[in-house]
Amino acid sequence: MEGRIDGNLASRTTSAVVDPKTVGRPRVVIVGGGFGGLNAALALRKAAVDVTLVDRRNFHLFQPLLYQVATGALSPANIAAPLRGVLRKTRNATVLLAEVVAFDAANRRVVLDDGELSYDSLIVAAGSTHSYFGHDEWSSFAPGLKTIEDATEMRRRILFAFERAERETDPEIRKHWMTFVVVGGGPTGVELAGALSEIARHTLRHDFRHINPAEARVILIDATDRVLMAYPPDLSERAERDLKKLRVDVRTGTLVTDVGEGYVVVTRHGQSEQIASWTVLWAAGVQASPLAKKLADACGVDTDRAGRIKVMPDCTVPNFPSIFAVGDMANCPGPDGKPLPGVAPVAIQQARFAAKVIQARMAGGDVPTSFIYRDQGMMATIGRRKAVAKIGRAKFRGAIAWYMWLFVHLMQLVQFQSRLMVLLQWAWSYLTFNRSARLITGKMLAVKTKVLPAGSAASIGDPDAADTDHTGLPVVEHSPRSESASPNERRAEVATTG
Ligand SMILES: Cc1cc2nc3c(=O)[nH]c(=O)nc-3n(C[C@H](O)[C@H](O)[C@H](O)COP(=O)(O)OP(=O)(O)OC[C@H]3O[C@@H](n4cnc5c(N)ncnc54)[C@H](O)[C@@H]3O)c2cc1C
Repeated sequence: MEGRIDGNLASRTTSAVVDPKTVGRPRVVIVGGGFGGLNAALALRKAAVDVTLVDRRNFHLFQPLLYQVATGALSPANIAAPLRGVLRKTRNATVLLAEVVAFDAANRRVVLDDGELSYDSLIVAAGSTHSYFGHDEWSSFAPGLKTIEDATEMRRRILFAFERAERETDPEIRKHWMTFVVVGGGPTGVELAGALSEIARHTLRHDFRHINPAEARVILIDATDRVLMAYPPDLSERAERDLKKLRVDVRTGTLVTDVGEGYVVVTRHGQSEQIASWTVLWAAGVQASPLAKKLADACGVDTDRAGRIKVMPDCTVPNFPSIFAVGDMANCPGPDGKPLPGVAPVAIQQARFAAKVIQARMAGGDVPTSFIYRDQGMMATIGRRKAVAKIGRAKFRGAIAWYMWLFVHLMQLVQFQSRLMVLLQWAWSYLTFNRSARLITGKMLAVKTKVLPAGSAASIGDPDAADTDHTGLPVVEHSPRSESASPNERRAEVATTG
């Protein structure tokens, strides 16, 4: 337990191993450069404090557009902004590229993988990660979408599936390659399923010679009885209708009970079905960053079932008024008593609130005691000119909601340059149906060689022409290589491994 901090934030701990500044003004350490952390740093830019923002990545990621990277519409650099660049004019902020591994709350220290930081105030905004509901073994067969690497891995799997289908002569196996299963009917699942269908029906329409990409099956699975469960029922219905128009096979009330190499098992009304698919994408389930548990343990408080730390009405950790937990990793009740949702506006507003509290304490004036969330509404896109939105009591659907979605997401991108690039890419895609970032990057599958005669449709399935891999499926001959990145990706200061 720590003592209440007075107006001057005078108490100091021993100097940190990695501290960039050790004397003078109160120190605020921010963990995470996502929506919460970055906005906290920006909100403190005029405060008489020294801010240190720590993130294990050197960039801020605009997660709402990750699915567009996963489906080849945008390049990673379009939706990521280097933290140093964003904070270059925030003179009181220092960026540290480091992994936070623990907290020493009693001594006001943050433990890094390679040092320590001491603080007067701490804002932790480490976000969340996927949850496979206790089946982490599914993760290698059904990647989730949280990082740039996840998005490029999804993109690789999607595009590679069409490549494999093109070379497949067995119609049954070809069908498996051309079956895409998206698990989770929330906004991300709906966006992925809609985009996949558009890729198959429009973008790739003329790109292959031996398959018709439009024959691809896209199946969207959700355990609840409607998609977009958090939306009003009529908007869910509209989204489902729009998905069906895009020929997405929407299966609600359907539970995934197993995922393995090349298949998903689902259960509906007690009946099980195995769906053969090489491309299963996970858009269900979220849990707090493991740092939430570490912080909770360090402070002797509880986490909820989703691993979020239960915070006080002013977003501080119980008994630790100098520690704020905000965004996806915090369980902060809304007006209805339920935890506020894991969305960007919650993280942004909580971070700004924490910055305000810190400044009010320093000024010695009235200190706000309760965070009040201003709901800005919700919107999800389904496809070209298809979206649903709810803002206040007003509901929007179809083209108008889609334009609103485009505008809001464009304006929320942190950097002007990204906005311009994304606007151009979207305009180009809109006019041509093209998705220019259709690169297969990262690791390729197993390599077996046999030269195909020119013009041959496929070696796969032909015992004279190809070998089979351990799955019993024939393997494509390929030299293992990654295609070079787009100019955008090369230009980026963004360090990714994907
Ligand atoms: C695919 C997808 C689509 C989404 N779409 C929307 C949408 O349309 N609208 C919306 O409002 N919300 C959307 N969200 C949710 C929104 O992105 C989150 O609510 C928001 O990012 C939460 O902000 P945060 O600051 O809590 O965490 P994040 O933005 O996730 O930031 C966490 C930061 O902490 C860093 N970090 C984590 N652990 C450590 C560590 N140990 N050491 C150092 N650094 C660490 C991470 O690198 C990251 O930069 C979406 C999320 C996803 C994944």
